[in-house]
Amino acid sequence: MSGMIGLTAAELAGHLHAREVTSVEVTQAHLDRIAAVEEQVHAFLNVNTDQALAVAAEVDSRRAQGEDLPDLAGVPVAVKDIVVTKDQVTTAGSRMLQGWVPPYDATLVRQLRAAGMPILGKTNMDEFAMGSSTEHSAFGPTRNPWDTSRIPGGSGGGSAAAVAAFEAPLAVGTDTGGSIRQPAAVTGTVGVKPTYGSVSRYGLVALASSLDQAGPCSRTVLDAALLHDVIGGHDPLDATSLPGVQPCYADAAREGAQADLTGLRVGVVRELGGEGYHAGVRDRFTESLDLLVGAGADVVEVACPSFEAALAAYYLILPSEASSNLAKFDGMRYGLRVEPTDGPVTAERVMAATRGAGFGAEAKRRIILGTYALSAGYYDAYYGSAQKVRTLIQRDFAAAFDQVDVLVSPTAPTTAFALGEKVDDPMAMYLNDVATIPANLAGIPALSLPSGLAENDLPAGFQILAPAKADASLYRVGAALEARQLAAWGGPLINRIRPLETAT
Ligand code: GLN
Repeated sequence: MSGMIGLTAAELAGHLHAREVTSVEVTQAHLDRIAAVEEQVHAFLNVNTDQALAVAAEVDSRRAQGEDLPDLAGVPVAVKDIVVTKDQVTTAGSRMLQGWVPPYDATLVRQLRAAGMPILGKTNMDEFAMGSSTEHSAFGPTRNPWDTSRIPGGSGGGSAAAVAAFEAPLAVGTDTGGSIRQPAAVTGTVGVKPTYGSVSRYGLVALASSLDQAGPCSRTVLDAALLHDVIGGHDPLDATSLPGVQPCYADAAREGAQADLTGLRVGVVRELGGEGYHAGVRDRFTESLDLLVGAGADVVEVACPSFEAALAAYYLILPSEASSNLAKFDGMRYGLRVEPTDGPVTAERVMAATRGAGFGAEAKRRIILGTYALSAGYYDAYYGSAQKVRTLIQRDFAAAFDQVDVLVSPTAPTTAFALGEKVDDPMAMYLNDVATIPANLAGIPALSLPSGLAENDLPAGFQILAPAKADASLYRVGAALEARQLAAWGGPLINRIRPLETAT
């Protein structure tokens, strides 16, 4: 991809600071690209042309006056539609919130605005972030820019597809069980789930509060780090926000790109990579592992036996928390309200009619499952047991990080599957998350970057996991691997994407 939209966020920032381009030009180029390819990709639920250009113009005039601006000032960004934006529709991919205009900005949106980043629009997602393909969006699926008959991953397929299709240089996603990393893997992009509590959750429509975490989507490791630097940090409005000042992740990425990894101990998680993983996905993983060895890293195999139960525990904990978080959509306070067409209009009947009409099949499935798991008499057997498994997984990670600095695995077991292939088979859909879920259950950070092209000539992902609060290690090791991949591949993987037919 050539021209302005082919540049990374770091490159755009460089040209903006040198005053070789204006933010209005950069933002307009991305808006033009959106207009040209959205019919095929459908990464966005809404595009904010006027607002984005207004912010761009303001940044340009401040720069012209000689003001010292933040690193990414003028670089446009897309935001997953689960993050609330003042005066701008936020739906979380649900009919329940169709047309809802929030009265406030999420903390991370305030941070983007303070950094002078024009917000291009809100990206598509599975309803309330439940899914691995975006097919559970109430507004139609997003398609994978590598092959538009295939899924872009989920729930944040819109953010990943926008970045892969060069509609945005950067996007914000959220990751409760893999919704940043699995879409990154299947679209050949980079996605990071930060340490739990390191990016504010204030103003995120809650799915599962003990797992939810916002993070960056990009085409390079450095770009992800630059965006993480903007959206991270302590927020007094989020009771689970980590205290303290975060390190500069962009510095870690820049240092990593030059680094020799001698002495780095890398653990391959034995449980993540066997049965159920495509052969091509495993081969590409091994090749990237060899690049790490070539850079000086010591690789050992590490056992995490409790990971076998991670998926089962997650699919009890998530529905339990979701059933509680989604109880507020009752037709009374905000969002959709449906009154029964026959019989009396009682509170219960309005709630039933609203929830019946407003939630899609997957949301209903999880609400029912979660309500059941939390009910008296079943609580200990299901939710209580799942929480014990969660502790065992945390202990497996703790034991593993006693031996190694980072852990690695394929990010997802397969490359992108066809639209329609798994949408009616919840178990098959859930199995996509097998390698991403352990990080959420333990609260640790994880990064996915491309490992090459595997089955059907589609991208596969390489996942790096680090101990809590060691997000900088992800950027350092990720950038070191990326630099070796660039040399081995003769350029970025994303450049091998087939050009989309453009509408103009
Ligand atoms: N695919 C997972 C799920 O359906 C992950 C969701 C997420 O991270 N938001 O729950």
